[in-house]
Amino acid sequence: MKYTLQKIFLAVFCGAFILGGLVYSLRVLSGDGRLDDLMISVPFMVIGLLVLVTQWRQISRFQTMNYQWYCKTYPKHAQSGRLSCFACGGNRVQVRALMNRTFHREHFCPQCGKTLYFSPEQG
Ligand SMILES: [Zn+2]
Repeated sequence: MKYTLQKIFLAVFCGAFILGGLVYSLRVLSGDGRLDDLMISVPFMVIGLLVLVTQWRQISRFQTMNYQWYCKTYPKHAQSGRLSCFACGGNRVQVRALMNRTFHREHFCPQCGKTLYFSPEQG
């Protein structure tokens, strides 16, 4: 639910950028305004689209790649509450906080470096 809200917020926020840039670009192209203004309106659209795509993918990863997902996807590597790495079989799992205000932690295998799953910082 929290992730769905984040996605809606992201879509509205980036959508405003993309739409604003698009409307302005179309106005310039139809002869209403200076051509130089495309130097501003086009990057607006591109940045809005880039942020939307990268953030959307990240939220989707947090949403799906959680502890329950790991246990279900790799049942052999999640027996009796002890996790092991799906890639190398190592049975140590380390946690690091992700930066960039994501408020999520990454659980990874210190042996091969693979990401196992994500968890929110609180709870
Ligand atoms: Zn590993």
